[in-house]
Amino acid sequence: MPEDADIVVVGAGPAGATSAILLARLGYHVVLIDRQHFPRPKPCGEYMSPGVEETMRRLGLFSAFRQTPPRHVPGMRIIAPSGLPLELRYQRLGNTCPAITIDRITLDAQLVGLARESGVEVREGMRVRAPLIENRTVTGVAAVSGDREVTLRSRLVIGADGSRSVLARALGLARPAHWPVRLGLMAHYREQETAPFALGEMHVSAGGYCGIAPLPGGRLNVAMVVREDALRRERVRVATFFDRWIESQPRLRGALAGSERLTPIRGIGPIGSRIQRAWYPGLMLVGDAAGFFDPFTGEGIFRGLNGAEMVADVAHLALRRGDVGERQLARYQKMRRERFSHKQAVTTLVQLFVRYPLLLHYALPRLAARPGPYGALAGALGDVADAREFLRPAVLVSAFLP
Ligand SMILES: Cc1cc2nc3c(=O)[nH]c(=O)nc-3n(C[C@H](O)[C@H](O)[C@H](O)COP(=O)(O)OP(=O)(O)OC[C@H]3O[C@@H](n4cnc5c(N)ncnc54)[C@H](O)[C@@H]3O)c2cc1C
Repeated sequence: MPEDADIVVVGAGPAGATSAILLARLGYHVVLIDRQHFPRPKPCGEYMSPGVEETMRRLGLFSAFRQTPPRHVPGMRIIAPSGLPLELRYQRLGNTCPAITIDRITLDAQLVGLARESGVEVREGMRVRAPLIENRTVTGVAAVSGDREVTLRSRLVIGADGSRSVLARALGLARPAHWPVRLGLMAHYREQETAPFALGEMHVSAGGYCGIAPLPGGRLNVAMVVREDALRRERVRVATFFDRWIESQPRLRGALAGSERLTPIRGIGPIGSRIQRAWYPGLMLVGDAAGFFDPFTGEGIFRGLNGAEMVADVAHLALRRGDVGERQLARYQKMRRERFSHKQAVTTLVQLFVRYPLLLHYALPRLAARPGPYGALAGALGDVADAREFLRPAVLVSAFLP
């Protein structure tokens, strides 16, 4: 049976669009499918570590910013429930390297536009229902477009269909998400002209956290992550819950005082996805489809773009050798582990402190006063330094000694 494409990429978020661009630039016929039409909104904190800008430059994606330049934000103020703050400013070799913020509706549409310019065949409004499998190898996808059933065959499928990946579930690669179930809620606000935000802010409280990211055009992204049972217990509309949450926290309320909400509240949940492994013969998972933990440390897009770079490397070699089985694709899993596992360990540690406010209260002033561990943590969270530095026993001991 002839193939419709060399590669079918399912999901045109940052991970899928970038995979498609890189593979099309290598000369492959790539079909990029999304169930939605772009521009489309995506609930997100819209705050990207400095490592994202670096990655976009390295991968030749920076022209995605040509119409709407991102806003540069030199760091993040983390505020413990007790009110203690820690200003996290990103640096590399003593130089400031800012994070960037941009609306996902813009960024994602620009990346899809770049994919088209790179020769990718983009199919919007097409929902993938299942992988096609022959001899225990994925050979394409079955999809629906309007009321039409469509079958697309390819040499390789890339699953970039987000944290509820249809492909990961159909292939038995998905694992149950972590408990407790959490939701993400976000909206845009107008930033007060007289009091612009110099840094992002992350307000931690006993039941979750709320981030404020200053966006281009004098707007703010306000995104919170809360336990689903808290919303269910209150039995109120999401907008009421959102407002009450802000009202109940004096520092958060103060930060947003006088800022008017510009958009409805968008929600997403449950947050977090886990997988057994990021490949199956004939298929690779990338971005949130390959697992997503928590947005607190804001590395989802960084992982999506860097995952796409690895996908392109491994796919290119596998297709050249005509082997999309375990021998070629297992290398992808190893590469992901090498690139992401140390940052993941730092993120897990940070999550522990976020969940237990007393720990956060203990840690923040110590980190602020100790330049070695502070710099190592800022570098790791900004994706501009090797996360292993923060995990060295000597650094951890000096960070948290009384
Ligand atoms: C509340 C919240 C705040 C966050 N804040 C940040 C942040 O500040 N910074 C950061 O870096 N990350 C953040 N993240 C994480 C970030 O949003 C994700 O990591 C990122 O969107 C992953 O990109 P992706 O391309 O893998 O998936 P997505 O962006 O989710 O794209 C997946 C695409 O697949 C399509 N799709 C899904 N199913 C199908 C199907 N069956 N057929 C066809 N198409 C399909 C969807 O329409 C979608 O366009 C946040 C996440 C949440 C929940």
